[in-house]
Amino acid sequence: MTDTAQSREPDAARSAVDAFDADRALATLQVLCAPDMQGRAPGTAGHDLATGFLAAELTSYGLTPVLDAFAIREVMRLTAQPTLRVAGGRLDRDLVHRAEFAEHPRSGPMPGPVSGTVAEDAGAGEWAALATVPQGNAFAELAEVLAARGAVGMLTAQNADGSGFLTKRVQGPTPVGLPVVAVRPDLLADAVGGVLTAHVPLVRVPATGTNIVATLPGGDPEARPILLSAHYDGVGSDPERHFPCAGDNASGTAVLCEVARVLTSAGPLRRPVVLALVDAEEIGTLGSGHHARALREAGVEPDALNLDMAGKFNGKVAVELGPADPAPRHVIAALDGAGRSLGIPLYAGTVSSDNRRYASAGFPAAGIGFGAAHYHSPLDGPERIDPDALRKAGRLVLETIHRLAAQN
Ligand SMILES: [Zn+2]
Repeated sequence: MTDTAQSREPDAARSAVDAFDADRALATLQVLCAPDMQGRAPGTAGHDLATGFLAAELTSYGLTPVLDAFAIREVMRLTAQPTLRVAGGRLDRDLVHRAEFAEHPRSGPMPGPVSGTVAEDAGAGEWAALATVPQGNAFAELAEVLAARGAVGMLTAQNADGSGFLTKRVQGPTPVGLPVVAVRPDLLADAVGGVLTAHVPLVRVPATGTNIVATLPGGDPEARPILLSAHYDGVGSDPERHFPCAGDNASGTAVLCEVARVLTSAGPLRRPVVLALVDAEEIGTLGSGHHARALREAGVEPDALNLDMAGKFNGKVAVELGPADPAPRHVIAALDGAGRSLGIPLYAGTVSSDNRRYASAGFPAAGIGFGAAHYHSPLDGPERIDPDALRKAGRLVLETIHRLAAQN
């Protein structure tokens, strides 16, 4: 691989990479993970607090961030702490929300408590305990059949993760016509025959998303920009349990902020750099979709780097490239060269994140993903973030940006 950047401006690239301060990134991450940020789900006060904090952070580096608001048709939100009690049968107790039962993203509305006996073949007034869960349309059709029989709702199995939590799901296709609650499989089996009373007030409300976009001008006004993006939204806290959303993706957000500080404190690169803290990734990569459209409409075609999950290093870093055809060879070359020069092994892996929106828009795009720990769980907290992973992410991104900027 030709070492273009190193031969052109080794000092600038090296000093930028070395200027990345992981302690600063960690401090930014800790602010984003605090309880008052409420897990940064769009439509919450905590989310808007995060937006304001990040805009102020970029401003403090001398950037002029633009807040680009967009409408979100609906977000799912629990209006109160969910409760579920089984009386009689083998259980005869209250279950613990998030550890033993959870809301289901396709549930119909449940404004008040719903009660009925749990049965495998449910009839009138009963909850249907589903042994297998049909996907897609078949799920809605099953709900119709059960509703016609007079069933009060459906209970589906959801396995706990390695730490004993039912992963928070905040995105789902259209709701069905019956209440649906997810229960841990062993408890679901034990609930059969008991009378189950559940109140899981999951509502769908419109919200506003806000992308935070700042541009560093380049030395060559004709040059295509380099885009660095990271989503700052999170899955949101439960009513009575905080979700810090540290790895996903306060880590990428904090790295982007520190990269912004490093880039603004040095002289301009040949190419402009667009820094985008995008919103609403967790509910369908809506912010990056909005941003990609805006770039296309403006006739801008950046090389896009997206960072999602930078809080844990598992010995190598996943890179997902797009579009497939034509393959973004210059982005591959820059990343590959950066990884080699910094001793950070890269591999072609799945990074299902905002990079796909930019790739779908036709931009040469790379999704960069370090490790995930406690995905969509309340345990995804700042205490489980490895500062050295933040450091590696920052260095990799800075080196890649310098290499891209030096390409012809
Ligand atoms: Zn994420």
